[in-house]
Amino acid sequence: MPLVTVRAVVLQSFAYSETSKILRVLTAEHGAHALVAKGAQRPRSRFGGLLEPFTEGTATFYVKEGRDLHTLTGWDLLRNRQGLGRDLVGFAGASLLAELVLRFGTEDADPRLFEEVTAAFDRVLDGAGAQCEATVVAAAWRIVVLLGFAPQTESCVSCGAGVSADQSAPFDPSGGGVACLACRPGRRTLDPVSREELRRMLDPGGETPNFVRPRVQRDLLRAFLQHQLAPERSLRSLEFFEEQLAE
Ligand SMILES: [Zn+2]
Repeated sequence: MPLVTVRAVVLQSFAYSETSKILRVLTAEHGAHALVAKGAQRPRSRFGGLLEPFTEGTATFYVKEGRDLHTLTGWDLLRNRQGLGRDLVGFAGASLLAELVLRFGTEDADPRLFEEVTAAFDRVLDGAGAQCEATVVAAAWRIVVLLGFAPQTESCVSCGAGVSADQSAPFDPSGGGVACLACRPGRRTLDPVSREELRRMLDPGGETPNFVRPRVQRDLLRAFLQHQLAPERSLRSLEFFEEQLAE
């Protein structure tokens, strides 16, 4: 029963029994886990009152083989990110990023995923306003790539033919990316500027573009997530995020 101490970020937190909380966290070295924080709802809990979504800390817990729920024994707060709750677009966007990891993250160590998710929460927190939407969309694409669902942007998903960068190309969300006109005639096309923006967002070190057509990027992400990641059970926070943008 090894005791581990790792950087962890809370993705979801809910009450459990009268006094405890269940946390779903992502860690750098131990992947995603569910932890029980005993007594966390008591006023003078040793964990403090900050075991809430987006909070980052150093977590100590016992990893029990074959168990789904581990026991949190220590928590040192590193960053609470409570400011995310003050901006609805940012809060909804961060919730979407968290839900992607909750649904598709595994117990396998993935330090890049941890860094992307925590850096994205910070960027959302720091960049309120118009740029917030692009920050969330770009982070969602990078998380999609790290989770193993990268869209194809250079060649047809059906026949494999190259799709020239300077032309509009059909986008087939259920096929997983762009297609050629011969394979997907009549399908809605993605313009070259938006496709280049998508390519930049998929690049792990790339900067977040200023969207020329924000609506196109929003629709593209939604269609891809729905078809590739959530065909049966929709992502609740995606709807919530879009509702905030529609205001
Ligand atoms: Zn084709």
